[in-house]
Amino acid sequence: MDIIKSPHIVKSRKEHQCDYCDKKINVGEEYTKATYKESYIYDWRNCDRCKPYVDEAFNNKTYDFSDGMSRQDFHDYMYGEHRNIAKEWWSKD
Ligand SMILES: [Zn+2]
Repeated sequence: MDIIKSPHIVKSRKEHQCDYCDKKINVGEEYTKATYKESYIYDWRNCDRCKPYVDEAFNNKTYDFSDGMSRQDFHDYMYGEHRNIAKEWWSKD
């Protein structure tokens, strides 16, 4: 994976969805955006709600996300480490 643009804070000009926690990112809301290249180029959006947990996951030595953390990795991490929050965010009930 190559980094085309390192993570940086931007203000949303249209609605997006957080790539880690699925939260809707509203127009005018600040979020972290990065651009990566694998076999194709894509943007990765990370909202303020989950950013502290994303940072924490990367710093948690029990896990190895040195190759990057997918959305599924993050969901697994949250269900493992912050089950109450994960249920609040993603529970269908
Ligand atoms: Zn998020």
